[in-house]
Amino acid sequence: MNFNSHTDAVVAVAVTLVNTLTAGESRGRVYTPPAGEERSAVVARVLGMGEQGPYRLGAREADELTVVAEALRVVFESVAKGDIDTAAHGVNRLLDETDARPHLDRHDGEPWHVHFHGRGGTLAGDWAASCATGLAVVLGSELYDRLGVCTAPHCDRVYVDVSRNGTRRFCSTPCQNRVKTAAFRARNT
Ligand SMILES: [Zn+2]
Repeated sequence: MNFNSHTDAVVAVAVTLVNTLTAGESRGRVYTPPAGEERSAVVARVLGMGEQGPYRLGAREADELTVVAEALRVVFESVAKGDIDTAAHGVNRLLDETDARPHLDRHDGEPWHVHFHGRGGTLAGDWAASCATGLAVVLGSELYDRLGVCTAPHCDRVYVDVSRNGTRRFCSTPCQNRVKTAAFRARNT
């Protein structure tokens, strides 16, 4: 997709946070999110922090991101149902709650670019603000309906459709294959 590379990256993180931290079903099985230290480690990995880095993700920050992931899920579900108003109001609420504000940063030899900072100066807070902003950019664009929830049976994982024609319906290739196989069997029995 072509919002800009930063937006694409944070929307991808939003998808992974929802799929990692919210309970439901995944690829035909019940999905229970990780807990405790495992959850902190998984979230740190999603955010590209690396486990041995100087910054360790605490339980409180993992809690904060879990709450954000639940709110992000509602946005994906609303768009999937065609209820863009609810999705937009949800994103506005998240922008308020995360105190998202743009800030120009320059680091690691990159040119100046916009980052989004959140409440408290924590990495989790900044990511929450970034994810909310990323979804705001998507919903405010012509590609607002590119957020989705997997349509395969027993799966409610979310995705962002970056295909050119916008025809994606599944979270993953395994779900697409499950549905294809079931349809094939149905035709041949
Ligand atoms: Zn799926």
